[in-house]
Amino acid sequence: MFDAIVLGSGVVGINTAYWLAKAGRKVLVLDRQPLAGNETSFANGGQISVSFAEPWANPGTLVKVAGWLFDNHAPLLFRPRPDPDQWRWLAGFIWQCQPWLYRRNLGSLVQLGLYSRHLLKQVRQEHDLQYQARENGILHFYRDAKSFENAKYAAALMRAHGCNRRVISTERAIETEPALQHMASQIFGATFTPEDESGDCHLYCQAMAEVCKNLGVTFRFNYDIEALHQQQGMVSVQVHHNGHSDVITAPQIVVALGSYSRQLLKPLGVSLNIYPAKGYSITVPMQNPTAGPQCSVTDDKHKVVFTPLGNELRMAGTAELSGYSTEINEERCERMVAQCRQLFPAIGGFERSRFWAGLRPATPSNVPYIGATRYPNLWLNTGHGTLGWTLGCGSGKVLADMICGERPAWQRQGEMTVHSTRKVYE
Ligand SMILES: Cc1cc2nc3c(=O)[nH]c(=O)nc-3n(C[C@H](O)[C@H](O)[C@H](O)COP(=O)(O)OP(=O)(O)OC[C@H]3O[C@@H](n4cnc5c(N)ncnc54)[C@H](O)[C@@H]3O)c2cc1C
Repeated sequence: MFDAIVLGSGVVGINTAYWLAKAGRKVLVLDRQPLAGNETSFANGGQISVSFAEPWANPGTLVKVAGWLFDNHAPLLFRPRPDPDQWRWLAGFIWQCQPWLYRRNLGSLVQLGLYSRHLLKQVRQEHDLQYQARENGILHFYRDAKSFENAKYAAALMRAHGCNRRVISTERAIETEPALQHMASQIFGATFTPEDESGDCHLYCQAMAEVCKNLGVTFRFNYDIEALHQQQGMVSVQVHHNGHSDVITAPQIVVALGSYSRQLLKPLGVSLNIYPAKGYSITVPMQNPTAGPQCSVTDDKHKVVFTPLGNELRMAGTAELSGYSTEINEERCERMVAQCRQLFPAIGGFERSRFWAGLRPATPSNVPYIGATRYPNLWLNTGHGTLGWTLGCGSGKVLADMICGERPAWQRQGEMTVHSTRKVYE
């Protein structure tokens, strides 16, 4: 008998399992994949970026989105479908664009991000985790006065919450990241966050799975979670493995199923506003890694990030609200390769680039669901959208503290818990 079952072994589930096991709980992790971190946590942008905690939904976005609606190459692409969930998400997104909600959501994300980044450092050191981690900071650069002004405003809000996102000149940006020297004439200004980090999320999940096993966590891979049932208020999990179905339960069940959380919870009457936001990454095996960036870089105009992961360069971005398909749009990826070539022409290896697409579990506010539900044994840790790698370690600890009846060290701001009929903490 297990104390807790964690559904999903992405970066959020694996961190939740870790902190529960650290607290002495006997934990079972279930996942349909053969390995941990094999879906959205597989090839993301690699940034541990508290400085990227600005919600998509902000007062300026609505104007931009209107312009992007009919542009096939826009950073945010909305493909309307006869899908009430998509429209509900969009309505929520428009609502969250209000200035006061934007500020509140930004505050929540920065605070959880700072807590998570701090814990990640501790966990990495304690277990000597190897995942191509770099502590070289994150540089955001802007190509025009207006976007730079907006960034200054967001950076000031973030600094007020304790994130050291500094506004810097073009000269300082080039000093910080000399690989951008040839772009100097196109860079209007930049921000730099020295404490932000980067690393390979998939390698982290693999390393953490080993740590979890050593702490006594049991993993059952290739298990398909077919449904969640409830009887007298207690939830159980119907799984399918090797042609057999089974129903299992535990005193605590955590849903960390990324973009698929909503579908499985719906029949229980737990209604989450999560919609998949498809994004792409390309991974370039650099022939000349010294010509690439030494810190992680974000190009605000194209909304893409560039992260060195060992001898490879990971570029990621774009968001398509178009359902659950992870089919690769070659044309979109080739455009990304061209952007990468333009920014870092001397790295080489472009012809061997690998393409990948993943589904960000996006909430309209960007703020994840972390907390209790109306069912005493059912908990949520999902909806981390663009920031699951940044927030995962902290989210896992926050939820494990709630489950274990501890007051989380991190104090929440804003709405983090839905359908909570029980007081989790004051
Ligand atoms: C292009 C792109 C770039 C990104 N860049 C960054 C970045 O730089 N920094 C950052 O912080 N975040 C980034 N993200 C976001 C981040 O990757 C996600 O927020 C994070 O991976 C979500 O983790 P998760 O554990 O919630 O979901 P997942 O990693 O998807 O894990 C969910 C798990 O549940 C399992 N599962 C689902 N349904 C079932 C079922 N029915 N039965 C059994 N198992 C099931 C899946 O197999 C999976 O392992 C990026 C995302 C994308 C797409």
